[in-house]
Formats: sequence, structure tokens, C-alpha cells
Amino acid sequence: MNNYYCNTPPEKWNDWKWQLANKIDNVEKLSKVLTLTEKEKEDIKNCLDRFRMSITPYYASLIDPNDPKDPIKMQSVPSIAEMDDNDNDMDDPLNEIGDSPVPNIVHRYPDRVLFLITLRCSMYCRHCTRRRVVGEKDGIISENELKIAIDYIRKHTEIRDVLISGGDPFVMGTAKLEHIIASIREISHVDIIRIGTRVPVVMPMRITDELMDMLKKYQPIWINTHFNHVKELTPEAEVACQKIVNAGIPLGNQNVLLRGINDSTKTIKDLMLKLVHNRVRPYYMYQCDLSKGIGHFRTNVDTGVKIIHELTGFISGYAVPRFVIDAPAGGGKIPINYNYVISKDDKEVVMENYMGKTFYYPQPEK
Ligand SMILES: *Cc1c(COP(=O)(O)O)cnc(C)c1O
Ligand code: SF4
Repeated sequence: MNNYYCNTPPEKWNDWKWQLANKIDNVEKLSKVLTLTEKEKEDIKNCLDRFRMSITPYYASLIDPNDPKDPIKMQSVPSIAEMDDNDNDMDDPLNEIGDSPVPNIVHRYPDRVLFLITLRCSMYCRHCTRRRVVGEKDGIISENELKIAIDYIRKHTEIRDVLISGGDPFVMGTAKLEHIIASIREISHVDIIRIGTRVPVVMPMRITDELMDMLKKYQPIWINTHFNHVKELTPEAEVACQKIVNAGIPLGNQNVLLRGINDSTKTIKDLMLKLVHNRVRPYYMYQCDLSKGIGHFRTNVDTGVKIIHELTGFISGYAVPRFVIDAPAGGGKIPINYNYVISKDDKEVVMENYMGKTFYYPQPEK
């Protein structure tokens, strides 16, 4: 535990607006919280010319100052490896620009859209997929842009699921967020509203009763959050998750497989079991995307396949997420699985179980 903040009064610490106002966004502030060498300071300054930094005091307080490979630090403090360019890196690896019919909307799948309502986050994750835009400006969607996006959703009656993301929607004030959610809820063909947020992980005090009371009015709402390591599931984060679930909102988790942070079966297993303990359902585990400056986080695809194979059958099915690659160029999320089928024809399926034993299933006769 990092104790720079030990004299902060709890009423400040537990106020999300204090956390945002005191975010660590330059080397001077960071060096007060963490001891940095001159070389580290230099490297971080170089990175900040390219990608923005912001760390909430809460998240920074979780960094173990004696562990150079601390998973919290690796996700939040810039590393010089971000300056390395890879041939395969892209500004917009998921082709979100190409799939955007109107500003702020990405319409890739038949029945649902991604609605990006802000570019702001409380913490800028070093591995962010959308780092081409996130944090570039603190912009919240304007009234005019909101109208255009809402009109698009209203005209497209096939849209039954609106996924609000960004940036982080929960960094916005509750009233502004309510205005957006209420505008979506008015559209009769929209069935579920989903929110993607990392606030339970990086600023859990934002999950207030006031926010939950607001969301409850617009059910059915689903939330997905983004825990990558069991160290992030602190007592504060657990309270935040339980508040969401107790508001009747199903809470899922999407983690990213990150080299040196969580790329082992043991680490993923510990995370998933603790999520399920808190009634958070692991949803997707992502292969790291091809965004610029995150090449050092990428693992071989086989690592993810192996981890899921080593968990499937051994722990509750609820605790096993689906491993996906969000395909470059806008192909969407593609599940990548261990192949349990040894052979299959019209007569029978020969398959392997989780322990590697062979079993047969006869096909129905025609
Ligand atoms: C991930 C994503 C969705 C949601 O996909 P699900 O598989 O339903 O979770 C929708 N639109 C876009 C553009 C996405 O990237
Ligand atoms: S919270 Fe999400 S959008 Fe924001 S920096 Fe992290 S990964 Fe990117």
C-alpha cells in the first residue's frame, strides 16, 4: 500500500469529485506518490508527448512501490515501450470510423450500436484500445451531436440494444448522464441499455446511491466493467460492484489479456473466482488489440486459448469468460476456442473432455 495519501480526510477520499480533481496527470504529481528515477521521469515525459496520463489517487494508492512489475502500476504509469512502433499497429484497429454512420455511433452488428458519449476517463489505461481518441479532449457529447445520434437510433428500428461507452460514461455528472439515458429510453424499440465503465475499478466511490437510484428508473440496464487483476478487487471495489448488483443491474466483466500483468492461468483464475464471489459475471476476455503503443502488452493468441482450456471444467462455468479477438478492420468479436472435437461425421462425434479423455456421441439416425 502506498501511503502518500494517508492524511487525506475520508470525506475527501470518498468523494469522486475530489478523486477527479486530484488526478495524477504529470510527472511532478506522480513523483510525489511514487519514487521515480531520473530516467523514469524522462521516459514518462517522453510518453506524455504522445499519450495522456491520468491516475486517480485511489488507483495510485494500490501500487506497491517495491514491485517494479506491479499490475496496477503497469496499467496506469506510462512505459517507454509505448514509444515503440510496430508494423501492425493502427490508429483505429477496429475500424470504428468506417462503421460510424453518424458521429459517436458505431453500428457494426445488426441489432445493437455502440454509443460513445464522452472521451474522458478517470484513469487512462496504458492498454486502451481507443487511445487514438480517448483523453485527446475532455469532450462530452454536445446537445446537437446527441440529437443526431438519438435520431439515428430512432430511425433504425432494428436497434434493440444500445451500448453506452466512451471514454467512461460514469465520469460524467449524474444529471447529464440521465439526460442521455432518458433520451434513449424514450425510443420504444430500444430494449436494453448497456453501460461500459471502468469506474468500479479505478474510482469505486463514483458508484453512489444517487447514481444507482437514477439508473434504476431506466431498467433494463446492464453494466460491464473491466477488472484485469485480482489486486483491483479491493474492499472499496467490492462494495461498488455489490451496489450495482443490488440495484438489480446485472454486472459483467471484460478483461484484456496483458503480458506481464495477467497472462497466466493462476492469475486469471484468481480474478475470475473473486469476480463471481462478488456476483460479477465474467463476460469476455479480449486478446489485446493492435492499437499504437501497446505492442509490449500483446500475448500470443495461444496463451489465451490455453488459459481458458485450463479453466474450463475445472472451475464453475460462471467463472469462465469467452476468449475473443476483436478482429482488425471491423470484423467484430470472434470467439477463439480450444478445439474439443476430434472428428465429426454423420454417424458420430468424437470429442475430448476437459481432462483430455475421449468420448463419443452418436448422431441421430436420419
Ligand atoms: C463490442 C461491441 C458491441 C457489443 O457486442 P456484444 O458481443 O453484444 O457484447 C456492439 N457494437 C460494437 C461496435 C462493439 O465493438
Ligand atoms: S477506461 Fe476504457 S476507454 Fe478509458 S482508458 Fe481505460 S480502457 Fe480506455
